[in-house]
Amino acid sequence: MERAGNDHKERICIIGGGPAGVSAAMYLQKKGYHQVEIYEKLNKVGGKAWSPRFEVNGESRAYEMGAIMGAKTYYAVHELERFAGIDHDGPEMRRMYRNADGQEIFPFDPQKEFSFGKLAGLLRMKSQMKKLVKIMDTKYKGYDLYGHVGVAKGRYSGLSKEESRALHRVSGVNPNLKDLALPFDEFCRKNGVEDVQKIWIAPFTSFGYGFFDEIPAAYVMKYLDTTTAIEFIAMRLWTWKDGTQSIYEAVNRKLENPVHLNTEVVKVERPDDGKVYVTVRQDGTERTEVFDRLIITTPLDHFLTYADADEDEHTLFTKIRHEEYVDFLATFRPNDGPTISGYIFDNMTPERRGHAMVYYHRWKDLTDNCPCSVYALRNHAGDEDVPYDETIRKMTDDMAICGFPLQKRLIEQETYYCPHVTPEDYAAGWYDRLDALQGRRGTYYAGEILSFGDMEDTCASSRDIVGRFF
Ligand SMILES: Cc1cc2nc3c(=O)[nH]c(=O)nc-3n(C[C@H](O)[C@H](O)[C@H](O)COP(=O)(O)OP(=O)(O)OC[C@H]3O[C@@H](n4cnc5c(N)ncnc54)[C@H](O)[C@@H]3O)c2cc1C
Repeated sequence: MERAGNDHKERICIIGGGPAGVSAAMYLQKKGYHQVEIYEKLNKVGGKAWSPRFEVNGESRAYEMGAIMGAKTYYAVHELERFAGIDHDGPEMRRMYRNADGQEIFPFDPQKEFSFGKLAGLLRMKSQMKKLVKIMDTKYKGYDLYGHVGVAKGRYSGLSKEESRALHRVSGVNPNLKDLALPFDEFCRKNGVEDVQKIWIAPFTSFGYGFFDEIPAAYVMKYLDTTTAIEFIAMRLWTWKDGTQSIYEAVNRKLENPVHLNTEVVKVERPDDGKVYVTVRQDGTERTEVFDRLIITTPLDHFLTYADADEDEHTLFTKIRHEEYVDFLATFRPNDGPTISGYIFDNMTPERRGHAMVYYHRWKDLTDNCPCSVYALRNHAGDEDVPYDETIRKMTDDMAICGFPLQKRLIEQETYYCPHVTPEDYAAGWYDRLDALQGRRGTYYAGEILSFGDMEDTCASSRDIVGRFF
């Protein structure tokens, strides 16, 4: 990857200044490309890594409205940190568990709430966890790569997530990998490890990535490969003092051509002359720039609305699904706020969609004065969405039930979250069809859909695309 000194003359356009766009620019710069322009429609870089600052007790600190954490398996993010000269220097993560009635529970601690049934359940879960780790390393060898190329056909090809050869290209054949197209609950049943879902659910469903009956196992296991899952269980997680947004701001400061903010791409035309014509709107005026190549890091289904998409792009991109993840940052009545983050397991079911599943207490020393972020999913395949306002109401009520009456919502949002394809489209080779389009009409597809909707997978996918095609 490190081939600085090349003098590539091509002009490259990147749409989107989130983790995928900023990392793609970094990797291009490292390879010696100097004519790279990144267009970002908002007035900030970082995309869904969004860390607004608020003042509490006279001190301004970063809170998280988007991405919060990483782990030692965040190899690509670590490359960004090194490039920018920053470190994961944020507060330690702490958590507890509650039921839907707001009472504290101890699902993983038989000593706190003893029963023989519970102990037996925990032992079963532990042995299934061991079994899963083993089968993923053997039967499903090759599963832990970034991206999905070949998986539906029983092959693997991509950058490795394995510590000893992280971010190195590996490939091979393993027909068992086809099972990864199954919904995760079915995949677990097939392998006799149903109980591991009770562990995987917290960092998956409560983090907005969908329910296990609708999401192919490939997404679950590529994001929460067994090493990352163990780091999550042990709470050995990375956070950033100035928030995850600060990673991308720091990288952006080191780019030869920093992100053009407040610049929305409104049209893309790719006629037969080999050039890409990109029209941007900035300060109310539009202009068209000419490029040799284009990297799209924004939602591919949205690309259809402003680009001269062809039939292949249209057929593939209309199959993309996404989650509707809602979060707000709130203050609580004096002496009545949480003092530690909490998971509400009962609310992580499709029937309880729209309810608060998790809340994040970031700063231990602010105790119950710390504003907290609260999160809910309001959709599930085949069911009606819970309306946005009703979701906010349910989340607010849930916090009150837990004993934390809200004072004020400081900020709230719903995000286009975790783009993915259905188990059927996955099995039918959606990813191989997408890969076959890479480079056609000077266009490259990057961002969350390529591997998974987290910072690491998006940055690693940008690394892979720059490494393979530039
Ligand atoms: C609540 C929440 C919690 C999360 N927690 C974690 C976590 O703990 N750990 C983790 O690793 N990840 C987490 N994530 C996920 C992570 O933030 C995303 O996967 C990551 O930001 C995706 O990067 P991206 O660049 O592909 O897309 P985005 O971050 O969505 O960036 C795309 C950018 O493109 C811009 N854009 C869109 N259309 C246009 C246009 N037409 N012209 C110009 N610009 C455009 C957008 O404004 C945006 O800035 C979380 C996300 C959310 C919302």
